[in-house]
Amino acid sequence: MAVLPIVTGDTTPVLRTVSKNVPQVTKTILALIKDMEETLKDEGGLGLAAPQVGESLQICLAQIGGKVQVLVNPEITWRSKEADTEEEGCLSLPNIVVAVMRPREIVVRYRNRKGMEEERRLKDMDARVVQHEMDHLNGVLIVDYLSSPATNEHRAPVTIV
Ligand code: ZN
Repeated sequence: MAVLPIVTGDTTPVLRTVSKNVPQVTKTILALIKDMEETLKDEGGLGLAAPQVGESLQICLAQIGGKVQVLVNPEITWRSKEADTEEEGCLSLPNIVVAVMRPREIVVRYRNRKGMEEERRLKDMDARVVQHEMDHLNGVLIVDYLSSPATNEHRAPVTIV
């Protein structure tokens, strides 16, 4: 197990690439997941996506209901029409906070660390963290939302990695 260095920069290729599907949760993939968990714990964030540690794979961690969950090949199958705007930060873009508008609720389908398919309906912060991490798997960063109107400038900044 190891704490991995975080890749930064809004033009860094691995952060701007659509990640590859993971056909099987192999021992190598599990080792990467464990390193990502250790890295997330070390950074004290709410989530971490594989491209942020230099691996262009469809794997992310997200704190859901206070517990870190592993999402392999996640796919959003439903989004609420209702949206919220909150300020987000990102470990890959130090010192940048962007107000991001996102659907308030989603249904996400993914494989867990055992390779079993799961589906969950998430709302509020849980839904936001997963959407932020899934953006990373699609090469999208919070700076891409800079045109969004900042409607909540009095709220406390949210840090998401
Ligand atoms: Zn991020």
